Amino acid sequence: MASEILQPLQGMSDISFPEIELWRLLENKARRIFSLYGYREIRTPLLERTPLFLRSLGDTSEVVCKEMYSFEDRGGRDLTLRPEGTAGVIRNLAGLGPAGLNSRVYYIGPMFRCERPQAGRKRQFHQIGVEMTGDPNPRADAECIALQNHLLREVGLKNATIKVNTRGSIEDRKAVSTGLLDALEPNRENLCNDCQRRMEENILRVLDCKNPECQKIVNELPKMTDFMSDESAAYLDEVMKRLEDMGVVAQIDPSLVRGLDYYEHTVWEITHDALGAQDALCGGGRYKLEIGKKSVPGVGFAVGVERTLNALQAEGVEPSLPGMDFWLISLGDAALKTNLKLAQRLRERGLSCQMELETKSMKAQMRKADRARATWAVIRGENELADDIICLRNMKDGTQQEVSCGEALATLERVAE
Ligand code: AMP
Repeated sequence: MASEILQPLQGMSDISFPEIELWRLLENKARRIFSLYGYREIRTPLLERTPLFLRSLGDTSEVVCKEMYSFEDRGGRDLTLRPEGTAGVIRNLAGLGPAGLNSRVYYIGPMFRCERPQAGRKRQFHQIGVEMTGDPNPRADAECIALQNHLLREVGLKNATIKVNTRGSIEDRKAVSTGLLDALEPNRENLCNDCQRRMEENILRVLDCKNPECQKIVNELPKMTDFMSDESAAYLDEVMKRLEDMGVVAQIDPSLVRGLDYYEHTVWEITHDALGAQDALCGGGRYKLEIGKKSVPGVGFAVGVERTLNALQAEGVEPSLPGMDFWLISLGDAALKTNLKLAQRLRERGLSCQMELETKSMKAQMRKADRARATWAVIRGENELADDIICLRNMKDGTQQEVSCGEALATLERVAE
């Protein structure tokens, strides 16, 4: 077994070639599509003051209760590695004054939650997310869901399901809690211990429980919308209609509540059958965050990168691996020095190339050229140097041609097009 020092921490992974090509595909598509909708990138620090998360995520959300990487730094400050992206982004936008209350921003980066590592749950995972600040508006929520759907389709994901629900307005909260509490009371003893606690702390979290016994009870409950105002039900209705107009297929899931406490009105989740128990790829919702003395309304989503890539692979999407335009093969020290100059010229012209930097056999160099998926090999030895030519070999069909050094650059540029 490899020694521990060579391994990343449990629940965290190195992401490298070739797997990283799929990451880059998703990230590049996200940047391009977000810009089509007017979103600009933001990069907030990974480390924030702990109260930022405690206050904004809500003290009964699982993330806050159990999972934050929090510590005291050398100056005695309470700090936390960000468990999600919204709080930091909204901190930034709240500080901008009125301009921040009508913004569209996106982020890409790692999040940290000290969960028990298992399939689909990592301690460092990555999210691609957007936030659109502004007063509640069902059209904004629908556009946000459509954007997320657009991104997933663009990367080639086909079998994802969009589930939407509403948590109602802040004013509905009391009626919803009381209604659910009354309905659950006769079954209190049959709920799992966590849910019995959740009944006291945050009843909505009972709806989210994955325990099969609890799920049976939850399935029999009246819908949350039964306890909401007509306006809140109409808000959800409008979101669904606008989604239909935009050609986005989504279904209502009456027990969907999402884990964080800051949501109001629309919440949604995108799931995929290939993922097993942790089947959510993405989550999103409308929220109001209280930061400092400011209250910032908005809507946003986060795409879980690892789970989305797992789903893509399950659907057979493979990364396309980049090759090399040229591999320069040098036979002898003089040829190596001349090739080194040529390599630099090629790269300055935007052509990719690589070569051995110490003398090696022809066979070893050809093997490297193959492995690098080079399209062409440029071969130079004593004879070529003496005749002032290079030998250009097509790596696919093995054909070779001689090119005079005077024309080498122009020829290489032409064949690489
Ligand atoms: P959340 O911020 O909890 O709504 O999560 C949004 C998305 O991030 C989820 O749908 C997952 O795809 C992903 N995610 C959340 N927690 C983890 C985790 N511990 N490991 C891997 N992905 C995660």
